[in-house]
Amino acid sequence: MFVNPLQNNPSSEGRNPATPLQAWVRITSGNSRWVRGGSRPIGGRFNRRSSLKTKRPYATVLSCIESTTPPELLCDAELGDLSVIRSAGGVLTPIISDSIALVSTAPLILILGHQRCAIVEAAYHSLSTGETPPKNLRSIIQSLTPAYERAVKSGGAEPAETMMRHQVALTVRTLEVDPRLSPFVQSGALAVVGGYFSLDTGKIASLADPSASYL
Ligand SMILES: [Zn+2]
Repeated sequence: MFVNPLQNNPSSEGRNPATPLQAWVRITSGNSRWVRGGSRPIGGRFNRRSSLKTKRPYATVLSCIESTTPPELLCDAELGDLSVIRSAGGVLTPIISDSIALVSTAPLILILGHQRCAIVEAAYHSLSTGETPPKNLRSIIQSLTPAYERAVKSGGAEPAETMMRHQVALTVRTLEVDPRLSPFVQSGALAVVGGYFSLDTGKIASLADPSASYL
């Protein structure tokens, strides 16, 4: 019998006992510390090996690969707090989906889009002008095309930002109905949440919160 190397057994002991809301509060409170400049020194956060045996991640984060968006730093997280998966523009591919399903023992999956995403902007430019993109962007742009089509329908003054938000929302929906995750979403043990990281303010906000200011 195959044994999951990450001991992913979400039906019982593998799942972090915290609720999705508690996990979200930890994300936002850590981010608030980081925004205020009150983060702990990096050496202090990432060298606490003594606590690793009991550590379980409280959230899984899918974010963009851009160097300005490292979730561990943005959330002032310690070693073992977050399972982080990154892809260009935060696109969801079969390998990324499998990785999320494999690693997700935490009660929260955060899909973290960000302001001025250069990859989404490049994809928007290519799709809106018809210009042939560089070879290494083609599969990424293909993955972002449904978000582009929704952004075109939505209109607005910031189409690439709109496209990024659609990409986050589409990814949330796709994961919510993933058969490996949906039973836990339906029971309330797991939440898949769209988030937005502002480069201007440093803040992470929920894209589900209509009162949040994203632009
Ligand atoms: Zn990006």
